[in-house]
Amino acid sequence: MSNGKIIDGKAFAEDLRGRVAVLAAQFEAHAGRKAGLAVVLVGEDPASQVYVRSKGKQTVACGMASFEHKLPEDTGEGALLDLVEKLNADPAVDGILVQLPLPPHIDEQKVIAAINPDKDVDGFHVISAGRLAVGQPGFVPCTPLGCLMLLKDRLGSLSGLDAVVIGRSNIVGKPMAQLLLAESCTVTVAHSRTRDLPAVVRRADIVVAAVGRAEMVKADWLKPGATVIDVGINRVPDTRPGAEPGKTRLVGDVDYAGAIQVAGAITPVPGGVGPMTIAVLLRNTLVAAHRNAGIALADDAI
Ligand code: NDP
Repeated sequence: MSNGKIIDGKAFAEDLRGRVAVLAAQFEAHAGRKAGLAVVLVGEDPASQVYVRSKGKQTVACGMASFEHKLPEDTGEGALLDLVEKLNADPAVDGILVQLPLPPHIDEQKVIAAINPDKDVDGFHVISAGRLAVGQPGFVPCTPLGCLMLLKDRLGSLSGLDAVVIGRSNIVGKPMAQLLLAESCTVTVAHSRTRDLPAVVRRADIVVAAVGRAEMVKADWLKPGATVIDVGINRVPDTRPGAEPGKTRLVGDVDYAGAIQVAGAITPVPGGVGPMTIAVLLRNTLVAAHRNAGIALADDAI
């Protein structure tokens, strides 16, 4: 999905959802049931509610079944684990997603560990992380897999390229680094203790910024022609001329206006990586459905 230097994640995600929908219909015809995604939300966090609603809507729009479980904030860990067990055992459920963050009285790692790895469409289970690390088929976290899809669409083979991932979270940075390594990139993972980050970034043909610091990566950190994937989502006061006082806007971790002058290609925020996350979740659910039903799906089918 190319529009000059701008990598259009919104258009790519729409196309991916279209391909998922075609394969989901074929799956239903073959398996005699829809592929199913269960999403569990505990509490009333407004951002989480928006994500869960959007996931449910897009799941249904792709021709898959959506099972939403909304539990009150004071749900105990035991009750949540019981629900996960029920979903593990339910043959109509191919993928299970527990929306994070969970309330502080619930141990997130314990809940993730309870999900059957064959239904772990978020890719957060340690078995999923291990499978990714050793190159076995499994589920890869949606955001980094979406970033990889955008990179391959833009660059084709990534073999031999220098890649710098800024950020080492389990959700984005680490799996991103594993994916790039598997594509035969030379990978550097930078983080808050990295010395002379601009110099490290300047070596890179591919820069993935997953930091959570508004517009931290500057144009003069980039090698001319580098491909820049901006995962960051940061809400900042809108100080642009003409903006209403008190208004905010979303920016990434990269100074987009400057970086687009130097980069070969770059994802905007919004409209870059963001839309890819749910589209990849639907893709992972479709893959899970095929595996769970014992129906073959070619590696390059989606
Ligand atoms: P985390 O806060 O878990 O990780 C941030 C990482 O950035 C850490 O590894 C941290 O290093 C590193 N870091 C912090 N400050 C610096 C610095 N000054 N220089 C270099 N590295 C630094 O965040 P996530 O990985 O969960 O998310 C990153 C960003 O991506 C956020 O803006 C988030 O909103 C966004 N996001 C977007 C998604 C999407 O769908 N588009 C999905 C998920 C996240 P250290 O480990 O040393 O502390």
